[in-house]
Order: sequence, then structure tokens, then C-alpha cells
Amino acid sequence: VFQDVPQAPPDAIFNLTKQYKEDTYDKKINVGVGAFRTDDLKPYVLPVVKKAEAILFNDANLDHEYQPIAGEESYTRAAVKLILGEDSPAIVEKRYAGVQTISGTGANHTGALFLSLFYKKSKKCFISNPTWANHRNIFSLVGFDVEEYPYWNPETRGLDYVGLLQSMREAPEGSIYVLHACAHNPTGVDPTQDEWKGIAEVMREKNHFPFFDCAYQGFASGDLNKDAWAVRYFVEQGFELFVCQSFAKNFGLYGERAGNLTIVTKSETNAQGVLSQFEKLQRSEISNPPAFGSRIVKTVLNNQELYNEWTKNLQYMSGRIIEMRKALRDKLTELNTPGTWNHITDQIGMFSFTGLKKSQVQVLKEKYHIYMTENGRISMAGVSTKNVDYLAEAIDYVVRN
Ligand code: PMP
Repeated sequence: VFQDVPQAPPDAIFNLTKQYKEDTYDKKINVGVGAFRTDDLKPYVLPVVKKAEAILFNDANLDHEYQPIAGEESYTRAAVKLILGEDSPAIVEKRYAGVQTISGTGANHTGALFLSLFYKKSKKCFISNPTWANHRNIFSLVGFDVEEYPYWNPETRGLDYVGLLQSMREAPEGSIYVLHACAHNPTGVDPTQDEWKGIAEVMREKNHFPFFDCAYQGFASGDLNKDAWAVRYFVEQGFELFVCQSFAKNFGLYGERAGNLTIVTKSETNAQGVLSQFEKLQRSEISNPPAFGSRIVKTVLNNQELYNEWTKNLQYMSGRIIEMRKALRDKLTELNTPGTWNHITDQIGMFSFTGLKKSQVQVLKEKYHIYMTENGRISMAGVSTKNVDYLAEAIDYVVRN
């Protein structure tokens, strides 16, 4: 029965990590995967997560029963509050719902699946060029006709704001637009607040549906509220929307798969109807979401003291990334590496979109054992005080040769 199943290519990012692990060279560097590392390049378990774990392990009443289909309300409510803000009109007017998902990927998938069944205005979905590779996979899998909107301008190494707005104006009425809420992956370039206002205006004129993906809240500015600004602005403007939340990066809970889909509707009744259909979908897909990661997240989000500590842990992570941006730029400047490198410190979030070409990326891997995605994206979390000189010297070599 399976003789006609063709071999699918391996996933680019996970394959890169595999190659890195197999590489025995002592100076090898993995700047592929977007996972935070300490300056010793070790995985980082947030101290606040350790505290929450201790609380959970000491809880005599903790059991391993099934969670509700959409997750515990004490978790989803806290997640919704985190992204929309406590005073959000959507929360005050009870026109929201939250569904616990399999991390950010699950939120994207469940949200896309729901829209494929219940969103009748359009079958077109627009994703940014470039974007997280999974956006296309996820939306095409559930039957959307996926197209790209201009985002990155290679000349300015910034946002192609004019191209973006033009795409929105020309797109069929009611199209779905996948927007990175903050810390755009892979470019590290976000619209300014004024640009977001312009985007919202055109989206309203054209009745487009905002599908926010928020995988890096706390990583763009180091401030959880600032990083939620765009989403909150759209809610204030009266949009109905979805927001995918991942706690992989900001809680360091990559493998625990704790995520949430926040849904904002026009009315409380609409929110209840939508939630009931999400529960039906979720039941057939995963029955109910995993407990461990979400328990850690809700323990922190629902305790002011732990929440404050979490913000400090987040500042340590975003602070280290900012230091490494500066160190890499300074070293390239010191080496007089041809080109301009200010974009490394101008860009925000976990990634730097270096502008390196595919052929240069290839040489970095083969000659220097430095692993990054083909589009020249560097995960700044893989850079440390110990490897930054080697990385800069390697970049200097490929740029000159
Ligand atoms: N969206 C974007 C833009 C991402 O970069 C990521 C993580 N790479 C995700 C969603 C989801 O990741 P996860 O499923 O691990 O939460």
C-alpha cells in the first residue's frame, strides 16, 4: 500500500540541528534554531520555572487527570490577559475566548483549521515574505490559497511598508492576513506604531481578517506590554481577530508545548459559539491539551511575585541577545568587513537577518562549521562572548571571498 509514497524532504531547521550535533569540530556554532542559550551555550531553565515546578511537585493534590478540552480556564484566562491586557475592551465586554493549544504551532493550526471551516469571506491567506516556514505549511494543509505579501526590503534592510499596504489594498476583500505581533521571524524588523495604524486602516477598509502570531512576547522590547501593543491596538479599533501565543521562547518551555489561541469576537454570544466549535475540533485532534507546561505557565501568570520574577528572567534573556548583537556588530566593524552592519543592532527579537547569501551560508557551514538557515538568518541566542569573534571572522571571510 505504501509503494507510491514519495520521500518528503527533511525539515530545514531540525535537519540543521541534527547536522550540528553530528559535527565533531570543537569550534562549531549552531545559530540555526531559535532556542535561547546561556553564554556557555547551554539550554536555560528559567529560575522562575524551577520555582513553579517546585510548587507543583509539592502539591499533594496534584494528579494526572485529563484537562478540560479547551484547557483549564485559569490558564487560558491568564494567557488572554497577558496578550490583550487586563483592561482590554474584549475582556471587559466578555467577547473573547481562549483555547489551550500545542504551543504556538498548535495555535496556528487550530486557528487555521477553524477558519477553513467557518470563515466564509475568502479562501485567500496572505503570509509575509519572508516568514516562519511553517505558516505556509499550516495554512495550505487546511486548504487555503496561500500568497505572500511584501515585507522585507533588501535595499533598506527594513520593512517594505509601501509594498505591504499595496498588497493589502489589492488583495480580495476579506482576505486573511497572518501578522507577526512582534519580533518578526526571520527579519527582526517590526512595523512602527504609526505603521501599524496604517496597516489597521487598510485592513478595515478591505475587511481583512487579522491573524496574529505572537511567539516572542517579551523578546522584542523586553517589555511584555509593549510587545503586545499592535494586538491591543487592533482590539481597541474594534477588530475581530485571532492571536496565537507560544510559551516556548518566553518561558523556555520548548518541549512542553504550552500555547494558547486567543479569540476576540463582536459579542459574548459569538465568543461562546466559536469556543464550542473549537472544542469540537480540539476533541477530534488532541482530545485535551497536555498539562505540565500549562501548569507551570499558569502558576507564574497567576502569582504577582512569580510574575515579577519572570519579567526579570525575560530581561536577562533579551538583554543577553542585545549584548551579542552589539558584540557581533563591533567585531565586524573592527575587522572592516565590507558592507554595513548596523542592521544587526537595529533588528530586534531573537534573530538577525544578516543579508548573507545562500552560497555564503554554505561556505560558513562547510569551512567553518557554522550552521544557519539558508536565508542568512542568525539566531542571536546561539552567539556567546566565546564564539562571537570566530563567527565574525568567518562572516568576514565569506563576505570578502
Ligand atoms: N510562530 C513563529 C513566528 C515562530 O517563530 C515559532 C517558533 N519558531 C512559532 C510560531 C511556534 O513555535 P512553537 O510551536 O514551538 O511554540
